[in-house]
Amino acid sequence: MLRPIVGQAVSCVGKGSWRFPIAASSVFSRFQSRPCFCTQTSNMSPTLPAIATKTHGIEKSVWVEFIQLALEVKPLNLGQGFPDFCAPDTVRNALSKCCVDESKPLLNQYTRGFGHPRLVDALTKLYTKMIKRNINPQTEMLVTAGAYEGLFVSIMGLVDPGDEVIIIEPFFDCYDPQVRLAGGTPVFVPLRPTKTAGSVSSADWVLDPQELAGAFTKKTKAIIVNTPNNPLGKVYSLEELTMIADLCKKHNVIAIMDEVYEWMTYDNAKHIRMATLPDMWERTVTIGSAGKTFSVTGWKTGWVYGPEHLMKGPQVIHQHSVYTCTTPVQEAVAEGFEIELDRYDSPECYFFSLPAELKVKRDNIIKILREVGLNPTVPDGGYFIMADVSELMNKIDVGGDPNETKDFRFVKWLSRNRKLQGIPPSAFFSTSHKSIGENYIRFCFIKEDENLKKAGEILMNLKKDLDAGKL
Ligand code: PMP
Ligand code: GLN
Repeated sequence: MLRPIVGQAVSCVGKGSWRFPIAASSVFSRFQSRPCFCTQTSNMSPTLPAIATKTHGIEKSVWVEFIQLALEVKPLNLGQGFPDFCAPDTVRNALSKCCVDESKPLLNQYTRGFGHPRLVDALTKLYTKMIKRNINPQTEMLVTAGAYEGLFVSIMGLVDPGDEVIIIEPFFDCYDPQVRLAGGTPVFVPLRPTKTAGSVSSADWVLDPQELAGAFTKKTKAIIVNTPNNPLGKVYSLEELTMIADLCKKHNVIAIMDEVYEWMTYDNAKHIRMATLPDMWERTVTIGSAGKTFSVTGWKTGWVYGPEHLMKGPQVIHQHSVYTCTTPVQEAVAEGFEIELDRYDSPECYFFSLPAELKVKRDNIIKILREVGLNPTVPDGGYFIMADVSELMNKIDVGGDPNETKDFRFVKWLSRNRKLQGIPPSAFFSTSHKSIGENYIRFCFIKEDENLKKAGEILMNLKKDLDAGKL
C-alpha cells in the first residue's frame, strides 16, 4: 500500500512500522513542499535503509528554500542570480542551429569527456590570452556542468579526508558542504566591513591579515577565494591577492579561485586572475561559468583550468561522475567565445558591453536603496548588492521561527507580505559569523530596468507605511 507522508519528519519517526532514519526524513520533509511517498506493507521490516552519513548536517540550502518560496508567492524576484532578459543572440542562434542543422547530427550526441573540442579550443585561446601563458587544451582545461560542478570536482579531486580548507566569508554557500563531502574541514575567515555608515563600498570589506595568516596550519590544503565576490561584489586588489598568494606559497597551499564574475567589474575595479601572480600558476585552479559570462545561467556550463599536475584530480572526479557535458550547449558557447574573441577590442564585445549595461543598473539600484534609507554596500563587481536593512527590520514584527537569523525571517516576510524577494546574506557565513551578515539583504540587479523600478516602489511603500505607523 502506498501512503503519502506530508509534513513533519517526526510524523515518520518511531510510529509502528513508519520508522524513518532521522536524516532522511528531515531532508525530505523540511526541504520539499510536495508530499514524499513511502511504501508501507504489513510485513515490512521495522527499519528502512539509511542515507549516507556524509549527507547529514548539510541538508539546508538557501536556494532550495527561497526558490520554493518564489514559486509559491510569485514575488518580484531579485533573489536567485539570473538575468530576466534575453541572452545575446550570438549564443542563442548558435544553440538553435545545433538542433535544427541536419548536416551535423553528431552535435546532438556525446562529445569528448573532458570538454567538447571546439569549446576547449576557444577557452584555451581566451585564457592563454588572459593569463599570458600557453594552456594545454588536453591536460589543463576541463569543461563541467556549470561552475558548481567545477567547484565540486576541484574540491573532491584536491582535498583529502583530514585536510583543512580555508574559506573566506561571505562565500558562495556550496563551498562548505562540498569541502565536508570531500572529508575536509572548512576553516572560515571573514571579510569584515571597516565602516557601516556613510558611503560604503565593497572595498571597505577587508581581511585581517593576521587572522588569515593564523588560519593556515600544517593541515591546510587549499584556500577558496571568490573574486568578484558573491554576495558582496568585492573585487580583490593586487595587494590582497598577493597577501593570499604569499601565504599559499609559504604553506604549500592550493588556491581554488572562483572567478565566475570575471567580466563584471565597475568603475576602476580591475579583475586580477590569481593564476597570473608570480609562481601561482603551479598552485592555482580557476573556475569559470558560461552561465555568468553569456547570461545563460540555465545552460549550466562551466570550466576549470590549471596546471596538469593539479587538473588530474578534478578530471578523474569528473570522469567518474558526470563524464561528459551537453554537446549542443558546448558547441554554442564555443561559437559565442569565438565571436567575442574576434571582436575583443571593440565595445560591442559582450565581455565589455554587459558590464557597461550592468553599471547603469547598479547605479540605479544604489539610488533606489539610498532613497528608501537602506544603506547599500556599493559593489565593485558581480551582479549583487547588499543593503543594510537593520533599521527597517527592527521596526517590523516579521514573526517567523525565532531560531532563524533576522535576515532569513525578514526576507521571508518581505516575499510574502510585499512580494519582493531577496536573499538573506547570513547564508553566506559560517555559524559563528552569521551576525556579520544578518543586518543585510542581497538583491540581484541583472534585471530589466522596470523591475528594478518596481522593487524601488515596493520598498518606498514599505517605508511610507512604516512612517505612517501602519505596521
Ligand atoms: N560561484 C559563484 C560565486 C556563483 O555565484 C555561482 C552561481 N552561478 C556559481 C559559482 C555556480 O555557477 P553555475 O551556474 O555556472 O554553476
Ligand atoms: N549564483 C546564483 C546566486 O547566487 C545562483 C545560485 C544557485 O542557483 N545555486 O544567486
